[in-house]
Amino acid sequence: MKTNNLGFPRIGSNRELKKASELYWSGQITADALLTVGKEIRLANWRLQSQAGIDLIPSNDFSFYDQVLDLSLTLGVIPEQYAAFAKENSVLDLYFAMARGAQKEGQDVVAMEMTKWFDTNYHYIVPEFTKDQEFKLFSNKIIDEYKEAKAAGFETKPVIIGPVSYLLLGKEKQEGFHSIDLIEKLLPVYFGILQKLQDEKVAYVQFDEPFLALNLTDVERAALVHTYTKINEKFPQIKIILANYFDCFGENLATALSLPVHTFHLDLVRCPLQLDDILESNLLAETTSLSLGVVDGRNIWKNDFKKSVALIQKAVDALGADRVLIAPSCSLIHSPCDLDLETNEATLTAEVKQWLAFAKQKINEVVVLRNLVSGEITDYDQALFEENTLANDNKKKATIIHNAAVKERVAAITTEDSQRNNPFSVRRQLQIDALQLPLFPTTTIGSFPQTPEVRSWRAKFKKGELSQEAYDGLIRKETEETIRFQEESGIDVLVHGEFERNDMVEYFGEQLDGFAFTKNGWVQSYGSRCVKPPVIYGDVSRPQPMTVKWAEFAQSLTPKWVKGMLTGPVTILQWSFVRNDQARSVTCTQIALAIRDEVVDLEKAGIKIIQIDEPAIREGLPLRKEEWATYLDWAIKAFRISASGVSDNTQIHTHMCYSEFNDIIENIAAMDADVITIECSRSQMELLDAFADFKYPNEIGPGVYDIHSPRVPSRQEMVDLLEKAAAVIPVDQLWVNPDCGLKTRHWDETKKALIEMVNAAKQMRVNAETTITV
Ligand code: GLN
Ligand code: ZN
Repeated sequence: MKTNNLGFPRIGSNRELKKASELYWSGQITADALLTVGKEIRLANWRLQSQAGIDLIPSNDFSFYDQVLDLSLTLGVIPEQYAAFAKENSVLDLYFAMARGAQKEGQDVVAMEMTKWFDTNYHYIVPEFTKDQEFKLFSNKIIDEYKEAKAAGFETKPVIIGPVSYLLLGKEKQEGFHSIDLIEKLLPVYFGILQKLQDEKVAYVQFDEPFLALNLTDVERAALVHTYTKINEKFPQIKIILANYFDCFGENLATALSLPVHTFHLDLVRCPLQLDDILESNLLAETTSLSLGVVDGRNIWKNDFKKSVALIQKAVDALGADRVLIAPSCSLIHSPCDLDLETNEATLTAEVKQWLAFAKQKINEVVVLRNLVSGEITDYDQALFEENTLANDNKKKATIIHNAAVKERVAAITTEDSQRNNPFSVRRQLQIDALQLPLFPTTTIGSFPQTPEVRSWRAKFKKGELSQEAYDGLIRKETEETIRFQEESGIDVLVHGEFERNDMVEYFGEQLDGFAFTKNGWVQSYGSRCVKPPVIYGDVSRPQPMTVKWAEFAQSLTPKWVKGMLTGPVTILQWSFVRNDQARSVTCTQIALAIRDEVVDLEKAGIKIIQIDEPAIREGLPLRKEEWATYLDWAIKAFRISASGVSDNTQIHTHMCYSEFNDIIENIAAMDADVITIECSRSQMELLDAFADFKYPNEIGPGVYDIHSPRVPSRQEMVDLLEKAAAVIPVDQLWVNPDCGLKTRHWDETKKALIEMVNAAKQMRVNAETTITV
């Protein structure tokens, strides 16, 4: 029985790669220095896995930015717009220019598009294909890294995104073809790579085809059969591991199992029943092996050894030990690096820590599991087994996890709890009377610039260098100045600016029971950007109000309405590591109740407009369409529970920033927020069509100012966008606002842009009046 790993985090346990890349980008270190850091990380990872006892150690899982971009470069898929840049720069700089754009003497290229890797928070660079796309071996990364490992004494298994998934990850830049049509032209380059690896005497190669977990067309399935049949014909000596993860094969099962490969890797965390399906199907060829992904690569919980051993034993009984491999469920790039580095008891107690495992610990779990099943148990394995059993047993009973009051409250939820008192049509008139806002009311999404000073106050406060009083005083001053600016510029609905918040999820997590925080639990989000999701380990409740103090303070400064600002339950869930001992829907409902209490307290404190941000609602959609309805059902309900505790004349806003509403517009309407503000300006209001076609019933603020760029839009540009909006949405439903929060912007551009935004709204009001008089 072999142990197998699909990928190890490449950011370095202390984010060495992030630091080195950013120094290189800002010209502070040389390319050689950066390459050296990369090499050190690779070697450390190989050594760690080898010492732990992993048999199939991955190579080519390292990347300076993104593994999809690496493959695009390998295959020579370099869009035309980089041709001139490529001539005058190194391959490394070309690579970074494709990833993040480049602006230097006379050169100005934009970055390629980036999007989420399946249902993770990892973002990849989207390959771009033309109809007559050519492929050629442009970079030797895969072979070089295999050779590098070998020279250092490590036999590795190159990990490569499979040809079908690679094509499906990309985007057609012209009409009239489908990326999958390119498969015949693409395959020879893959063959070339395999040939070179074979010349180096490679034993195993892993192809990732995660599209097998999605709904595929017949053409796509046929492409898979064609690809792996050809690979098998040409390279019968290479043991091909075909990896699927994040869901089961579903309706692709028969196709998948017909592929002539050496091993199938299965994600048995997301889909444990799949093992039975496969064993019972009789479709698995007699010599084919299964790599059982039993250790969760997407979450931070310790494995349950007893459960995993039972699952593995079942496969061993059916196939024999030599046809079974043990592995994490997917690449460990979605896990933080090393739990041993967590030493801060204040944010992560020993009690919670004993339940966790990061990448390094997961590698050990894989090896121990193999030993437990094979019966070759060392003292170390035995000790780890006992520790594992103990931790999993005491987790079931822990008082810090289980809160009877929270469970009872969730059980007692009624239909009324997710319903406002009256439908929007009734609430609307009450809100018009109560709020007295002009046509085209102006507002912002919540945060104002988080300047280096604001961040330094928080850092000093956390280190104990600033007293609570002094810190609060500084935040109060910043808030007051922001209120004054909004009053002077004529914004109608003000915000306090969110200066007291580090992050829109962490800020709430820190104040809720059931959350813990790591010091170093970083996971790559894109390029050098990492996130440190909070850990939801227990039943969630709100011991006391979280935002009322600041909202109340801001409202006390001005006769205009100040909007209360909250993060919604689905977004808090989505951007955390979520407990795996109860359904996500239950955890989400618990968070919803905590937010609901906050909404009610804000109302009691005199706040008449409350925004509950849900930017992550769409990314929670399951991979397979069949599963969408169930998710949307509980997710939308959770939002409604959080929003429905207030009277009808309190106005609830929500905010989302992503661009594909068409699929789920009905569900967005079902959230029943009185006002929704959305990202819109970059797409020139295109996505408003979805709202217009559907006749979205409530009020809507399509963003008219693209906050992702330092550029200040002119009044006329924003008027043009508003005209477009007014052409499809009744004007009395429209709000005027930026695309998203302003925290990454500078004050000077923010001020100019918002003043112009107010002017644009004023002009729209004048236009509307003349239309009415005429
Ligand atoms: N209220 C948040 C802010 O303005 C919303 C951020 C977001 O949508 N991601 O920063
Ligand atoms: Zn946003």
